[in-house]
Amino acid sequence: MAIPYLVYCTPDGEIREEPHLQALTFDNHILESTALIPLPDGATLAMMPDRLAVGQKRNGERHVLPQTRGWATAALVPIGYTRTRLPAYEKVPDTEPLPFFGYSAVAAMNGRLYVAALKTDDPRKWHPRNFNQQVLARLVREKQAAYPNNRIITQHAHCVLDYSCPTASNLFFARWEMAIAVSPGCNSRCIGCISKQEEESLISPQDRLTFIPTVDEIVEVAVPHLEHAEEAIVSFGQGCEGEPLLQWHRIKQAIKIIRMHTDKGVININTNASNPRWLQQLYDAGLDTIRASTISGHPETYAAYYRPLGYTFEDVKESLRRAHDAGLYTSINLLCFPGMIDREREVEALLSFIREVDLNLVQLRNLNIDPEVLLPRMPALDTLGKALGMRVLIETLKQEVPQVGIGNFSRPVKRVHVGM
Ligand code: SF4
Repeated sequence: MAIPYLVYCTPDGEIREEPHLQALTFDNHILESTALIPLPDGATLAMMPDRLAVGQKRNGERHVLPQTRGWATAALVPIGYTRTRLPAYEKVPDTEPLPFFGYSAVAAMNGRLYVAALKTDDPRKWHPRNFNQQVLARLVREKQAAYPNNRIITQHAHCVLDYSCPTASNLFFARWEMAIAVSPGCNSRCIGCISKQEEESLISPQDRLTFIPTVDEIVEVAVPHLEHAEEAIVSFGQGCEGEPLLQWHRIKQAIKIIRMHTDKGVININTNASNPRWLQQLYDAGLDTIRASTISGHPETYAAYYRPLGYTFEDVKESLRRAHDAGLYTSINLLCFPGMIDREREVEALLSFIREVDLNLVQLRNLNIDPEVLLPRMPALDTLGKALGMRVLIETLKQEVPQVGIGNFSRPVKRVHVGM
C-alpha cells in the first residue's frame, strides 16, 4: 500500500512533496491512502498563509517544516466533490485567520497528487471549463447594453467578473441554474457568512448586496431564462445577499407575474427557512423547490452556527414540513465540516431531522471557513460523540434514508400540485 507523503508550498509558490514525512490530518491522524482520491480535474491547490507544513516521521514523531522550507498546502475541490478530511498545519502565533475557503487534506503518492474527498455528484455543469471568462465578458457587456437599468444584471455582472460565480454566470449564458439576489438584510448571523462578517479580523470574501430589486426587475430577468434556458432554474438566495425571505412580499408578487408569462422551468429559493408563514405565501404563489441551509439536525449545533435573530430550528423544520405538504421538492444545503458533522450525536440528529421533514435531497456543501474560527464557537467536539468519518456519514444516509437523494446542487424538479 502506497504511503501518502506531505505536500507543501515553497516560498516561491512551488508545490513539493516531502518523502520523509507522512501526511497528517487537522486532528493529527495519519492520512490513510484509503481516504484519498486522485486530485480531480477542476481542483485547485491553495497555500495556507502563515500555516507551517506538518508531517510525521517514520518513528511517529510529529515534525513541523521550518518557514524557510515553505507553507502548508490544501486542495479546494470543485462542486461535485465532498471533502472528507481537513489538512494539518501549525499556525504561526498572532497571525490572521485563514481566508474563507474549503480546505481539504492533500498528499502525494507515487509522484501524483491526491485529496481526501469523495465524488458525490456530476461536476460537469460546474467545471471551470464551462465558464470561459472571455466569452462571459462579452455576454456581460451585451446583456448590460440590452438592460441598462436592470440592477440585478449589474449586480450579477459584478459577481461574474469579480467572484467567477457559476450561478451568476448562468444568467449571462442563459442556461441551467441562475442567480437572482434580492435581499441586503438577514435574520441569521452565520459564523461563516461569506457576504457579511461582524468581527474585525474576519473578512467576508464577497460584498453584501446594497439594494432591493423591484418586482419588474426580477420578472425581467427571470422570464426569458425560464422560457429559453436548458434545464432552467431561477434561484433566489445567493452568496452575495442576505436572507431572501425578508423580501417574501416582492418574491411572491414576482412569482405570480412570472407564472402568468410562462409555466416553464423551476423557481427555487435558497433560504435559512426561518419563517414558515412567509414561505407558505411563496408555496401558494407557485414556488417549485426549496433548499434550506443547515449545519446540523440538532438545535444546539444549529443555534451555535446560525445565531438566529427571532426564529428557532423548529421554524426551519416547520417550513420544510409545509413545503413537503404543498408538493415542493425539498432539500437541505448541509454545511459539511469533517470531524464535527460526522460525530455520533450529529449523525443521529441529522437522520431524525431528515425523517421528520420528509426531505427529498441532501446537498453536501463544503463549509468554507478557518477551522480555528469555527470550532471555538461551536459545541465542544467531545460532547458530540465519536467522529465516524464523512464516508460513514454518507453511507449511513444511503442505508437509513435510501429514499433521500444525495448530491451537491439543486435539481430542476417541478413541484407536484397536491389536492388539485
Ligand atoms: S443566512 Fe446567508 S446571508 Fe445570512 S448570515 Fe447566513 S450565510 Fe450570511
